[in-house]
Amino acid sequence: MQYINVANQGVKSLLPYQAGKPIEELERELGITDIVKLASNENPFGFPESAKKAIQAQLDHLTRYPDANGFELKEAIAKKFGVLPNQITLGNGSNDLLELFAHTFAGEGDEVIYSQYAFIVYPLVTKAINAVAKEIPAKDWGHDLNGFLTALSDKTKLIFIANPNNPTGNFLTEAELDTFLTKVPENVIMVLDEAYTEFTHPNERVNSFALLDKYPNLIVSRSLSKAYGLAGLRIGYAVSNPEIADLLNRVRQPFNCNSLALTSAIAVMNDDAFVEKVAENNRQEMKRYEAFCQQYGLDFIPSKGNFITIDFKQPAAPIYDALLREGVIVRPIAGYGMPNHLRISIGLPQENNKFFTALKKVLNLGNEK
Ligand SMILES: *Cc1c(COP(=O)(O)O)cnc(C)c1O
Repeated sequence: MQYINVANQGVKSLLPYQAGKPIEELERELGITDIVKLASNENPFGFPESAKKAIQAQLDHLTRYPDANGFELKEAIAKKFGVLPNQITLGNGSNDLLELFAHTFAGEGDEVIYSQYAFIVYPLVTKAINAVAKEIPAKDWGHDLNGFLTALSDKTKLIFIANPNNPTGNFLTEAELDTFLTKVPENVIMVLDEAYTEFTHPNERVNSFALLDKYPNLIVSRSLSKAYGLAGLRIGYAVSNPEIADLLNRVRQPFNCNSLALTSAIAVMNDDAFVEKVAENNRQEMKRYEAFCQQYGLDFIPSKGNFITIDFKQPAAPIYDALLREGVIVRPIAGYGMPNHLRISIGLPQENNKFFTALKKVLNLGNEK
């Protein structure tokens, strides 16, 4: 028996998700220590102290189920962003939410639109429900919104746009999104995935919650895995009109967010100083990456996220392997159809220094261009 023949049609085309290599795995494989991981866009400052305290206080209560409605976290999010608790859906990481959007609004034969080089979870959730993926060829590695509009049909149920996008770092301005949304029919759900929004400069950040007032078909999804440093706990949230939130909350698993994630999220929601420190380090260090690439003639995609994607103009797999031997884990993105690129998460200054030194050694970049 070959069970792939039993799986639903869409599942047959799926490949396992390739996560960044864990530090412990590289330690085991190569017997080296002092490893720097710049592979999964994680927070380089470590787990926030405010969340540690919240977890300590929660430990004695773990015998109880978590609050199925996430009442206090929704209150904290609502207060911080000026939205209503009944607009919010909580997820076990925002990946859980992305899957929930697909389950709630699309089914077999329905069409889901996203871009080439978009976050790999969009094809995953689309294919897993046997929906039809409409992948729009990218323009300068980013979203071709006119292409999206052309692809709309009466079968279209969902649009996924990540802003900034992972793994390319491309960014759409509020004006571009606004113009686009005026042309998307109200019965098509538009998901704006803002996992990296905290890294954009406040002056250019999209005021996406204000767009919700104009576009009832918009869902904004956010993550606490990146700027907030809670990747290991799995927590994210979506904000939409209350009717959509109600539907999502019917479909989600009742206890999809665990008690430690909920309590930690409440703590970091009120920890603006931590997030600001993280974003500021990212802005400063991003400039150093850009300067480094310019100095050594390396082509990169300008990024508004907490990562930068470099085009080596040659297969990047050997460069990735050589960097591993130098104790630096970055992210190959051949699975995205970008075999010549590597994505590097922006770390702390000393981690980035280690990457620069390792890459210079690996590519033999002695002399400045
Ligand atoms: C990292 C990331 C997420 C967040 O995932 P979580 O499940 O919240 O950890 C969502 N969308 C994009 C584009 C990402 O890169």
